[in-house]
Amino acid sequence: MTAPTAMQIPGFRGVLITRDHHHYDDARAVWNGTVDRRPRLIARCSGTADVAAAVRFARDCDLEVAVRGGGHNVAGTAVCDDGIVVDLSAMRAVSVDLVDSTALVQGGALWGDVDHETQAHGLATTGGIVGHTGVGGLSLGGGIGWLMRKHGLTVDNLLEAEMVTARGDIVRASANDHPDLFWALRGGGGNFGVVSSFRFALHPVGPTVMAGPVFWAAEDTADVLRFYRDFVADAPDELGTVIRLGTVPPLPVVGDALRFRPAVAVASCYAGPVEAGERAVRALRQFGTPLVDLVGPKLYVDHQSSIDDTVPHGWHYYWKATNLTGLSDAVIDIVAEHAFGATSPRSYAAMFHMGGAVARAPRGATAYPARDVDHNIIIDAAWLPEQDDTVGAAETAWAREFLDALAPHRAGVYVNFLDSDDDTSRVREAYGDANYRRLVEVKAKYDPENVFRNNKNIQPATPAQ
Ligand SMILES: Cc1cc2nc3c(=O)[nH]c(=O)nc-3n(C[C@H](O)[C@H](O)[C@H](O)COP(=O)(O)OP(=O)(O)OC[C@H]3O[C@@H](n4cnc5c(N)ncnc54)[C@H](O)[C@@H]3O)c2cc1C
Repeated sequence: MTAPTAMQIPGFRGVLITRDHHHYDDARAVWNGTVDRRPRLIARCSGTADVAAAVRFARDCDLEVAVRGGGHNVAGTAVCDDGIVVDLSAMRAVSVDLVDSTALVQGGALWGDVDHETQAHGLATTGGIVGHTGVGGLSLGGGIGWLMRKHGLTVDNLLEAEMVTARGDIVRASANDHPDLFWALRGGGGNFGVVSSFRFALHPVGPTVMAGPVFWAAEDTADVLRFYRDFVADAPDELGTVIRLGTVPPLPVVGDALRFRPAVAVASCYAGPVEAGERAVRALRQFGTPLVDLVGPKLYVDHQSSIDDTVPHGWHYYWKATNLTGLSDAVIDIVAEHAFGATSPRSYAAMFHMGGAVARAPRGATAYPARDVDHNIIIDAAWLPEQDDTVGAAETAWAREFLDALAPHRAGVYVNFLDSDDDTSRVREAYGDANYRRLVEVKAKYDPENVFRNNKNIQPATPAQ
């Protein structure tokens, strides 16, 4: 079938957005403002049946396919040129089942949607640390966040997924149904089909938790990181921490004098009683001379959205990332030397402390491979769309040089932190050889023609095969 000019998809009840639609430009925009792709058709699905209809239509018409969850991937894989976007952005429902403490989450939901519904019951699952990130892409790549050391990665909490395969079939993947597919979904990204809904395990969290950042002057970075390395070495699983190196973001809680001042921050969230959390972060708060200490009891749902405005939609972004072999003195010195070398005050680097339940999950149980990694780093260059191209070039160069300097200390990479272009070749690095080979087998079974290739692509067969 050739794609008709006035698009009609048989059996589709959602909204079809073509190039002449007044919402076309909004509908094709994604979080990263550098991405400017012009799909032929955006099929905004209203449910699983629409997803199946859209996938079958794309196959029948031989159209390039992109799948949009939250539209947050820095590489902009949620949109493609000329083809069809299977757009899940209208599928954001979340329902909580209190009998078995699970949440059923539609494939286009954002983490803010999940936190809102689950926290109404004092429950949560591990999600991203920015509320406007999509559940779809984040969950399928692994899912790191404040709760992971206590409750595992997002993939460790995934119980089942309903999805549409490349043939347009609707299948359920779980430990009992299509276990090979279920293994691959938990880390292998959007390579195997379109997930219309996820079911996650929930855990009691908050609703009030001890959380927030402490900031120190940029000059103190090496000292803070050395202290931090020892501090987190025996941290309880309940304590999640993320380091942020950049200028102090202009949040409402930050006074004028500190805004945009270069600083290192350790942000934390204690997934347990507030009093225990207060004890767990006491030494951190007492270290050195903080510029400002914003740690305190707060609603978990508020903490989860507290940095949303620091990474808004539409700015220009470029990322580099790597897992680290450890926080050695050499790594700390490199980080301290490079972290504040960006010219844009919006650029920053962040380091996540892994371990705990992430490390205890059985090796090979999921496609997410990096169970032994304690720390990773993401170098996030950010500038304004109206800024001169030279700003973007300088920020991009900063991110690349920073990553290059860390070369001797790299240990794989989290697939969801990969950017486009020069990161495409790093997909195998993200999975490691053994997991990659297994993913190739599952890909060959469920998507042999690589219909789902606008992603961190796993090729169904390599030339050697
Ligand atoms: C500001 C910011 C903060 C972030 N914070 C975190 C964090 O704390 N923890 C973390 O782990 N990651 C984090 N990330 C990375 C995040 O996991 C990825 O960007 C992820 O791809 C976002 O998913 P999405 O659905 O919003 O993206 P999209 O761009 O919509 O999708 C990316 C890809 O995922 C696939 N996909 C999405 N939804 C589906 C679906 N329902 N079915 C099948 N395939 C699908 C598609 O292949 C698509 O190309 C963050 C990203 C940003 C920009």
